[in-house]
Amino acid sequence: MTKILDGAALAREIRTEVATSVLEIKKVHGLTPGLAAVLVGDDPASAVYVRNKEKACAEAGMFSKTFRLPKETTQEEILALLNRLNEDDSFHGILVQLPLPDHLNETVTIEAIAPIKDADGIHPFNLGKLMQGIPDFIPGTPAGIQQILLRNGYDPSGKHVVICGRSNIVGKPLATLLAQRNDGGNATVTVCHTKTNNLSELTAQADILIAAIGQPRAITSDMVKPGCVIIDVGINRIEDSSRKNGYRLVGDVDFDDVSPLAEAITPVPGGVGPMTIAMLLVNTVKAARMQAKVD
Ligand code: NDP
Repeated sequence: MTKILDGAALAREIRTEVATSVLEIKKVHGLTPGLAAVLVGDDPASAVYVRNKEKACAEAGMFSKTFRLPKETTQEEILALLNRLNEDDSFHGILVQLPLPDHLNETVTIEAIAPIKDADGIHPFNLGKLMQGIPDFIPGTPAGIQQILLRNGYDPSGKHVVICGRSNIVGKPLATLLAQRNDGGNATVTVCHTKTNNLSELTAQADILIAAIGQPRAITSDMVKPGCVIIDVGINRIEDSSRKNGYRLVGDVDFDDVSPLAEAITPVPGGVGPMTIAMLLVNTVKAARMQAKVD
């Protein structure tokens, strides 16, 4: 029987651990961890993600505030807001919901977040520390994937992990994290992308296959080794006239086709997505402890 890796249940477990930690910080240190979310424009998917993050913060006893900016916001305006948030002691973590509208520069924007408040762990300073194996903040999606593996008994150590996708927020930091000479790492990692020759030959060698490409149901059964563990990061909207909103979410893996072959697989939705939010909370609490200089 294929094991379904229930990211939603695991995320609840981690959020409960976070809530316990928040209670302790409040009681012992009189500090409430706070997260500022910056949302520019009116992308409906981004609005949903930010709402879910706000809700998760509230449930964990944390303070959060979303700064909703119009899509015409200028680069100067967003930088000015980030400067203010960097100086504001009520916010220990700051996240900028990506993607930004085209006229805004993501690199310049992310670099304007103080590294110690970088709750998404995607500032170059934090990515550099991750590369060195001494991370303060690990980006939420890679950290969530590592927890799904470890807490389900799939230690990546010694395994061949094939990652499809090399983005700065998923594929690249994930490859770094799983290849580290650290607990939860020690995998042999292959990173694939659109210029990879013979993609399916490589994916078929994976003990652990991770799909983060943004292509609905692109990974099919002929591309996987029987008995492998599959992590599907993709969140793709496809038309579905039977649904009230006219769409449904599918992953980058063709779940129905592939799951009978796999030892274990994450569903979409309910797999990696909830874990990304849980790890954002973990980072924010860590940031609060670091800023308050408490263990
Ligand atoms: P990007 O679009 O930034 O990157 C996609 C990567 O996949 C690129 O490196 C691209 O290669 C590669 N790629 C695209 N098509 C193929 C293909 N057919 N074969 C091999 N490689 C391919 O995506 P993200 O990393 O931001 O996101 C990936 C997916 O994960 C999306 O569906 C996104 O919605 C989802 N996501 C989910 C999260 C969650 O919490 N569950 C969080 C973040 C993202 P190249 O570099 O050559 O262009």
